Amino acid sequence: MKKFDYVIVGGGLAGASAIQGIRERDTQGSILLVGEETHLPYDRPPLSKKLWFGKARVEDIFIHDQRFYDEHGVSMVLGARVEKLDAQEKSITAANGESYGFGKLLLATGTQPRRIAIPGGELEGICYYRTLDDYLRMKNEAKSRQSVLIVGGGFIGSELAAALNSSLEVAMIFPSATLCRRVFPEKLGLAVQQHFQERGIRVIPSDFPTAISKSGDKFRTETASGKSLESDLVIIGIGVDPSIGLAKEAGLEVGNGIVVNEYLESSHPDIHAAGDNAFFPYLALGHDMRIEHWDNALSQGKLAGHNMAGAHEVFSYQPYFFSDLFEFGYEATGEVDARLETFADWQKENHTGVIYYLRDERVRGVMMCNVWDRLDVARELIRKNERVTPENLRGVIC
Ligand code: NAP
Repeated sequence: MKKFDYVIVGGGLAGASAIQGIRERDTQGSILLVGEETHLPYDRPPLSKKLWFGKARVEDIFIHDQRFYDEHGVSMVLGARVEKLDAQEKSITAANGESYGFGKLLLATGTQPRRIAIPGGELEGICYYRTLDDYLRMKNEAKSRQSVLIVGGGFIGSELAAALNSSLEVAMIFPSATLCRRVFPEKLGLAVQQHFQERGIRVIPSDFPTAISKSGDKFRTETASGKSLESDLVIIGIGVDPSIGLAKEAGLEVGNGIVVNEYLESSHPDIHAAGDNAFFPYLALGHDMRIEHWDNALSQGKLAGHNMAGAHEVFSYQPYFFSDLFEFGYEATGEVDARLETFADWQKENHTGVIYYLRDERVRGVMMCNVWDRLDVARELIRKNERVTPENLRGVIC
């Protein structure tokens, strides 16, 4: 069995960032990255944004080119699913039967799309949108097809509806009354939804599919409210689950993700986790959580790499996330949960301004709508954790 000083399971952003983190502290140790996809690590945000608008080409989204991995002495095994982790023996085994020993291991296994448990939910051609291959397939289909039904009104559903609107007739369906209801206060969700409708998107809220069938090359989707929707394509984005199977079977502590401490170490001292699958202490908020966004994977991957190579750094960074829905763009940080009390400080209602998410009269999250370069002020407000009133928040960020 070949042994490496560092093994990274997961060829996404967290995995690629860990390589950089390791090499900043250790230029010699041997590194192996095992990824399930056949592509080199790439950024996911363009898959539902820039690539569709011609603002990026596929070749632009890769985090590094092959030369980077060669120059940094990184062995890559791509297109290989890791089937087993032996935490005692300190080895992993891939689906092709190959085993690799490790000194330090990073589980950067991310998440997997939730499946829709209805008749026809696994019909050939339905796309559970997540990967570059999904983008390439849908991009190709969009050239010759007319219509798409998007199931889900969260991040994937809303961004893809906006992205596909220029090339296809788009309908979208989701169970809640308003779009992006987990992050948008109701009024904002309703306003963005109306904007989608004005752009020609058929928005079907408060409803969900009960069965999907196929006749020829058309899909037919039956819904709980009795609608029957025909479309050439069906794309599903109904959330993701953290990939914790390997960790669980190996006896590591898991819950809503792989449980790690502030150094991103799991319950095994030689195994770290970072990115979408890590359930970590969010120090500025004072509780544990899991974050499924780009900046979190980037920053945690790097710090995990440092710590695997002997540093003892605390993850105290406050990651942000962003989205673009036609002309409504935002950046957000902290606990952006619409179930909290919210206060909106609008300059232009439902378009430009700041939404504060409050718990016990303290700012826990901030969304800056069409307001840019103010993330550090937002982070500081959250970190300070001071008692506030909506009136003293007015004008604080913009
Ligand atoms: P999501 O944001 O959690 O949204 C899931 C959506 O599916 C919600 O609208 C939900 O409705 C709906 N849903 C749940 N069960 C359903 C059912 N049976 N039928 C119809 N709809 C159903 O998840 P996502 O959009 O799939 O995104 C996946 C991941 O990608 C997330 O981790 C997200 O953070 C990440 N992502 C992030 C960005 C970004 O940061 N800009 C962009 C794209 C993707 P309810 O809300 O009513 O439950």
